Amino acid sequence: MGRSSVVILGAGLAGLSAAWHLQQSGRPCHVYEKEAEPGGLCRSKKVQGFVFDCDGHLLHFRHKEVFDLVRELLKDNLVRHRRDSWVYCDDRFIRYPFQANLFGLSRPVLKECLTGFIRAKRSGVDPGKENFLKWIEGTFGEGIARHFMIPYNTKFWTVHPRHMTGEWLDGFIPQPSMDRVIDGAVHDSRQLLGYNSHFWYPREGGIGQLAVAFSKRIRNLHTGFQLNRIDLRHRRMTFANGVSREFGDLITTMPLPELGGLIQDLPDDVRRAFAQLRWNSIFNVNLGLRQEKPSSRHWIYFPQERISFFRAGFFHNFSAHVTPPGMSSLYAEVSYSTYKPLDKVTVLGRIEKDLRKVGLLQAGDHIVCRDVNDIRYGYPVYDRHYTGARRLILDFLRGHRILTCGRYGGWQYMSMEDVILEGREVSRRVGFSSI
Ligand SMILES: Cc1cc2nc3c(=O)[nH]c(=O)nc-3n(C[C@H](O)[C@H](O)[C@H](O)COP(=O)(O)OP(=O)(O)OC[C@H]3O[C@@H](n4cnc5c(N)ncnc54)[C@H](O)[C@@H]3O)c2cc1C
Repeated sequence: MGRSSVVILGAGLAGLSAAWHLQQSGRPCHVYEKEAEPGGLCRSKKVQGFVFDCDGHLLHFRHKEVFDLVRELLKDNLVRHRRDSWVYCDDRFIRYPFQANLFGLSRPVLKECLTGFIRAKRSGVDPGKENFLKWIEGTFGEGIARHFMIPYNTKFWTVHPRHMTGEWLDGFIPQPSMDRVIDGAVHDSRQLLGYNSHFWYPREGGIGQLAVAFSKRIRNLHTGFQLNRIDLRHRRMTFANGVSREFGDLITTMPLPELGGLIQDLPDDVRRAFAQLRWNSIFNVNLGLRQEKPSSRHWIYFPQERISFFRAGFFHNFSAHVTPPGMSSLYAEVSYSTYKPLDKVTVLGRIEKDLRKVGLLQAGDHIVCRDVNDIRYGYPVYDRHYTGARRLILDFLRGHRILTCGRYGGWQYMSMEDVILEGREVSRRVGFSSI
């Protein structure tokens, strides 16, 4: 194989997209994936007749070219849904996003949220994005901050917003106008807001169908190849199965913190930068249930510390074909990290107890099967070290003709659409000077 073909590490959506776009442009490439099958986080499995994704995975499109590509891959196995999502707060369910749907909260909470929002808007101060807590308080006011934004984000990121920046925010947190907030406080508004107001999902087979369709089109896709070591001086990589090869241009989509441990002879400042990367992990439990489909909801956010999961959702409302007849299925997501360790022995029991507490599991419901995904790399944490450390690492790698791509390779809060798009961008940037 030599150094003439581009090497891509990882066959998640980022790696698959990079490979597909390189192929389209006529450049040879080889993809090496550590698992036995491609797809990364975009995989589905069948357990006792239930199709489970690796946690909830829904497609949102902001770029027509990505939509066209996904449509070409999935053909008519793709359905558009209008979001029906909720927040559990103040011992009741209100519509998502919280800040635009205060109607239904108890009067004292509603008043605190609304007056806080009006005061924040009236102040006219731009909170900036240097500090996430200041951004929350300056954008939404103290009430919304106290009742939802601070507890939810602390639970989700596992660090308090005061320790984070807001660099990742663009588009992810809806910012309704004053009119919209007042409207949503005085009546039950059905008007949707935010980048995820609609989503797309395969009619059949779960989200993994996208990776399956993608990978069928990729030549030179090698599974069971876990990168173990990179020797930059000799441009040689070694895999856990003992295979070793030279490389020229390299695109990596494997988690950045792990890559650092595989490169020999890293300079001290780069090694320190790798050690500064922080992330949360997601413990995902999927349940197959003997229970008629309980509601039309898609997913629900839970900001309370006393409830173990931060979000729960319903696969059966994404597709009618992911459960056996008369059954339903749901997923729950728990966040943890070195800052907030998780007791993995008791968590499953706690999740099931909490699902009953909030009414998502009822007395007569029978759990047919359980599926657990412990996702080590969930979301990169944007703390004060994030930007500097990431920039130093990426510059160092670029200097060695290693380009990063994807949510974990490039270490950014990215959606499936974002990583598909970046796969295309990186395929265009990869050097044409391969040895
Ligand atoms: C809990 C959760 C929920 C999400 N929900 C959504 C959603 O609803 N909608 C959405 O658009 N996005 C969602 N995302 C984001 C989405 O999953 C990612 O943006 C996308 O799947 C990332 O693709 P990737 O190729 O960058 O990474 P990955 O899918 O992680 O792929 C990386 C690949 O590299 C391989 N690899 C790792 N180490 C090595 C090694 N040493 N050698 C060789 N190969 C290696 C891995 O096995 C993997 O296949 C969610 C993410 C999480 C964590």
